[in-house]
Amino acid sequence: MPACDLGSPPHGCRCGAHQITPACPVDCLRAVMPAAAFNPLARASGAPFSPPATAGDVAGLYQRHQLSQIRGLGIRRHREISHGLQLAGLISAGSPPGPDAAGSQPAARA
Ligand SMILES: [Zn+2]
Repeated sequence: MPACDLGSPPHGCRCGAHQITPACPVDCLRAVMPAAAFNPLARASGAPFSPPATAGDVAGLYQRHQLSQIRGLGIRRHREISHGLQLAGLISAGSPPGPDAAGSQPAARA
């Protein structure tokens, strides 16, 4: 019986980790985001960079605001991905998505 329940969703990869780590293959992120967000993300369709190989790569793309360069990832998918990355503990909650992260503009448009 696993004694460590850290609140992360279980995932069924072969990496052997209970928690999704940056070293996990990108497939592990299927556990924390809908396929509609995961699939274009994993393929990096139309993006000027190679598809992410690991969960850490995805976190990096997110933090560098490169997700918006992937075709098919709108605001909603963006949110699903950021939520998944937060669930997995790969980014901290409150990391603002979008290219205007450095600014202090409140994106209060719901
Ligand atoms: Zn894994």
